[in-house]
Amino acid sequence: MSDIQIGGFVPFTTIDYPGKLAAVLFLRGCPLRCAYCSNRHLLNVGDGEYDTDKVLEWLHGRIGKLEAVVFSGGEALMQGDALIEYMRRVRDMGFAIGLHTNGFYPEMLQRAASVVDWIGLDFKATRESYGRLTGNDIAYERMIKSLDTWIATGRGMEARITCDPRFISKADVDDITTLLAARGVKNIAIQKYIPHFEDEKEQTTADAREQFFNDAALRDKINSRFESVIWRE
Ligand code: SF4
Repeated sequence: MSDIQIGGFVPFTTIDYPGKLAAVLFLRGCPLRCAYCSNRHLLNVGDGEYDTDKVLEWLHGRIGKLEAVVFSGGEALMQGDALIEYMRRVRDMGFAIGLHTNGFYPEMLQRAASVVDWIGLDFKATRESYGRLTGNDIAYERMIKSLDTWIATGRGMEARITCDPRFISKADVDDITTLLAARGVKNIAIQKYIPHFEDEKEQTTADAREQFFNDAALRDKINSRFESVIWRE
């Protein structure tokens, strides 16, 4: 089989797949260049740092200990059908399969539905700000198509909004969550923006980053729209 490029690996996590002990594989390559990306070292496609067969062997040794394997990135779906084939091999060991995605590849996501049990989908900003945040003018439309594609499968998902005050306001979060609820999303996460690099640290204040979490009226309104809302600080 053609190989995938694994650039990072977390052997144990309780927070990346809802309710399951999981390992996370980080795949190389991403079509976007988000201003707040904390995985810049993974953005370019190149040789993977992990031997994919050895990772499978390692996972085999975790049967009965771990419950799920999450494919993250970068954008894992950029690896195409080789990824789906690899996911199938992992699933055949008995693991649930999770996928963190930016939604840029709706057709691949449709194909992945044959093997993926749950996704975390980024909804990064309003249509107006999406291109400026991601460096890509068609990312919003593709993400919306992925959102509708996945909802139609009836499988598990969490829509995620990272509240970077350079690109999103409280009114935007209100609007986006209204849209998500209207489209049938049941579970969302509102994530605090944490600057990781020196060039980001001067560009926002703690107050600006906290504003989404300190507004009780906004929180109540958003909480009332979904079955579950995680306020991820
Ligand atoms: S989609 Fe994710 S990995 Fe890609 S640039 Fe944006 S934050 Fe980074």
